[in-house]
Amino acid sequence: MKLENAHKIKHILKLIDGKGEIIVRVRCPICRTKKSLLLIGSTDKYECQVCMKQGGLDDVIVYFEDEFERRHRQTIQTMTERSAVDL
Ligand SMILES: [Zn+2]
Repeated sequence: MKLENAHKIKHILKLIDGKGEIIVRVRCPICRTKKSLLLIGSTDKYECQVCMKQGGLDDVIVYFEDEFERRHRQTIQTMTERSAVDL
């Protein structure tokens, strides 16, 4: 993952004596809005700005793992179907 405009952010942090925190925004697995889910490392919490769902990071990991597994399974299925056609 690339931190865009990192030099500007670093400069701002320097000006405020490093008193800040990095928040990562990702797609919300619950309402599926892009970049609406905040992952807040310092409080170990997540919070969606659209559906207002919030909780601990451990809970949201479960959602993403579920999604990841489903996506992975679909890929395997597609590959299996494709090789069946090739035969
Ligand atoms: Zn949401």
